[in-house]
Amino acid sequence: MNFNLFKHNDLFSTASQIGLEDLPIILAAGYKSVICNRPDGEDGGHHVGSKELAAACEALGLAFSYLPADATHLSKEHGTALRLLLADMPAPVLAFCRTGNRSTNIFRLANLIDTPIQAAGAGNDKLKQYEIVIVGGGSAGITVASSLLKRAPNAQIAIVDPSSQHYYQPAWTLVGRGIFDSKKTVRPMASLIPSAAQWIPQAVSEFLPDHNRIRLDNGCLIAYQQLIVCPACGLHGRR
Ligand SMILES: Cc1cc2nc3c(=O)[nH]c(=O)nc-3n(C[C@H](O)[C@H](O)[C@H](O)COP(=O)(O)OP(=O)(O)OC[C@H]3O[C@@H](n4cnc5c(N)ncnc54)[C@H](O)[C@@H]3O)c2cc1C
Repeated sequence: MNFNLFKHNDLFSTASQIGLEDLPIILAAGYKSVICNRPDGEDGGHHVGSKELAAACEALGLAFSYLPADATHLSKEHGTALRLLLADMPAPVLAFCRTGNRSTNIFRLANLIDTPIQAAGAGNDKLKQYEIVIVGGGSAGITVASSLLKRAPNAQIAIVDPSSQHYYQPAWTLVGRGIFDSKKTVRPMASLIPSAAQWIPQAVSEFLPDHNRIRLDNGCLIAYQQLIVCPACGLHGRR
C-alpha cells in the first residue's frame, strides 16, 4: 500500500494520494466508493488524473466522484458538496488528496453543517470521553495537540473551540504597521486541527474538575483524563 489511510468511522476514511495500482487494494479492503479531492494538474500534475481514475474505478465496480478543492480555500460549500455525495454514494467511502489532510478537513466541514453537535458526538446522550481535552484551539491549543500527537500518535485528543476561524494574532502588530496582509492571519479552524484530534466546535461553559468533566455551551458533558486549558484571556475593562 503506497498511501496513508485514516479511518474516521466505519463509513468514511481519508487517504493520501492513491494510484491506479492501489484501487484493487482499496476494493479488497471493502471500500465501495472513491472521492478525489485533489485537483487535476496540481503541483505539475504528475499524479493520476480524475478521468483515468473514474474509468479504472468503473471497471472495478467502485463508485467515483471528483470534488476538487484548493487546500487554502476550503469553505462550507465543500462540506455541503461532500454531504450530498455521501448521501448518494455506496459506503464505505474513501476520499483522498495529496496528503489526506484536505479530505479530512472537508469531512470536518461537512460535519459542521446542520448537525454540529453530532459531529462531535456531543449531542448523544452517551457521555463522550477523551484521554486529553484541550480547551482553546488558538496557537497554544493547536501547538500542544500537535506536540502531544508527535510523541503519542494514538492519544485520544479533543480540542474544544467554538470559533470556525483561527487568528494568528502575533502578526497583527505587523498588520498595524501596514507591512503584513491581515487576510493572511485568518485561516479556517478546520484546516489547522491535527487530523488525529477531534474538534468539538463548542465553547466550554463550566469546568467540573472534581468529576474530570467540562460542560459545553449546548449543555453536554465531556469527560477527560487530562485537561489542558488555553482559551487565552479577554479584556473586560473595570468590573
Ligand atoms: C496585536 C497582538 C500582537 C501580538 N504579538 C505577539 C508576539 O509577537 N509574540 C507572541 O508570542 N505573542 C503575541 N501576541 C499574543 C498572542 O495573542 C499569543 O501569542 C497567541 O495568539 C496566544 O495564543 P493562545 O492560543 O493562547 O490564544 P488565542 O490565539 O487567543 O486562542 C484562544 C482560543 O480559545 C478559544 N476560546 C476562548 N474561550 C473559550 C471557551 N470558553 N471554550 C472553548 N474555547 C474558547 C478562542 O475561540 C480561541 O480560538 C500578540 C497579541 C496581539 C493581540
